[in-house]
Amino acid sequence: MTIPFNKPYLTGKELTYIQEAVNLGKISGNGEFTRRCQDFFENRYGFHKCLLTTSCTDALEMAAILLDIQPGDEVILPSFTFVSSANAFVLRGAKIVFIDSKPDHPNLDESLLEELITPKTKAIVVVHYGGLACEMERIMDIAERHNLFVVEDAAQAIDSFYKGKALGGIGHLACFSFHETKNIQCGEGGMLVVNDPDLVKRAEIIWEKGTDRAAFFRGEIDKYGWVDVGSSFLPSEVTAAFLWAQLENLDMIQDRRMEIWDAYFQFFNEGNQNQKLSSDFLGLLQKASEGLPFHTAEREYQANAHLFYLIFDFPEDRSRFAQRLKENHILSVFHYQSLHRSRLAKAYFPDQSLRVLPNSDRFSDSLIRLPLFYELTPLPNVP
Ligand SMILES: *Cc1c(COP(=O)(O)O)cnc(C)c1O
Repeated sequence: MTIPFNKPYLTGKELTYIQEAVNLGKISGNGEFTRRCQDFFENRYGFHKCLLTTSCTDALEMAAILLDIQPGDEVILPSFTFVSSANAFVLRGAKIVFIDSKPDHPNLDESLLEELITPKTKAIVVVHYGGLACEMERIMDIAERHNLFVVEDAAQAIDSFYKGKALGGIGHLACFSFHETKNIQCGEGGMLVVNDPDLVKRAEIIWEKGTDRAAFFRGEIDKYGWVDVGSSFLPSEVTAAFLWAQLENLDMIQDRRMEIWDAYFQFFNEGNQNQKLSSDFLGLLQKASEGLPFHTAEREYQANAHLFYLIFDFPEDRSRFAQRLKENHILSVFHYQSLHRSRLAKAYFPDQSLRVLPNSDRFSDSLIRLPLFYELTPLPNVP
């Protein structure tokens, strides 16, 4: 049996709710299940306004339209991130200015922010890597002083907190993902959070193809029309119904992921064999890492156990570790390649591709993620 890196979890209620959505007779977007999901986030985390989208990528694209990003504007974002964080702004003609990670952490190094800000800077996109919070207090303070928007790429950050505040509720805008690799999933899905009240009305219009259809359906106007640019960003009720089955079980899913995360952490840092992972499995990890110096992520009590990673002192050791695991049918995976060194960056932003961002490159070359999913636990000696 191979232990995959990820296995999307199903709660068992997905088809029941999809049937319900079908029975309701309205399966296009912005219906009953969409409302339930959006209300869930607004009530549980205090997000000002939530709009489900077809992906986090789309939520980021909405954010770029909503912030009126124009050709020539500059957007600062980490090099160590997924392409969508950057693509959304490149599509609007922005110049991406890449910021390095911290020396000891994949998140952006906020102490480097101010030197990258120019009169053309319009927004900062922060990425909460693995659901680990960026230094939001410092970042919001810098943004405010320079009159910049902050977009949280919270794709991996559902149910994570920063100083007691939910991630996704701090920046002007935030984007979540419900892709099947995330803690809560519906195959493909996402959400835009609008925390700045001034942006809500236009966000709804962009969401509904540039029309004021949402206001029409609430009975606020007697006909709807084309009032702005926009696109089709809303998912169907089939997707929202699936997502609802997951959200209902958020606490259960999170509890299990936290147990697994803690079992990994204790094992690698304290040598404890926590019963949440089988001793056979941990034994294989032990053998695979023998003689290869590495360290794990720090424990952050308010993080959401999205991923568990190791950072090797030497890149070649990471490959050796992955190979040894593979020989034992355990799949582990690397993560982002620095975006500033990508082929696109070389073509679009040659000055950026020449910059030296050593920390981002180090995480590209030496970070590896271990299997972490709801059903990882049922191995031999788990109660
Ligand atoms: C997963 C992810 C995305 C993209 O999410 P989709 O829903 O697949 O579009 C964007 N940014 C980060 C940091 C991600 O992890």
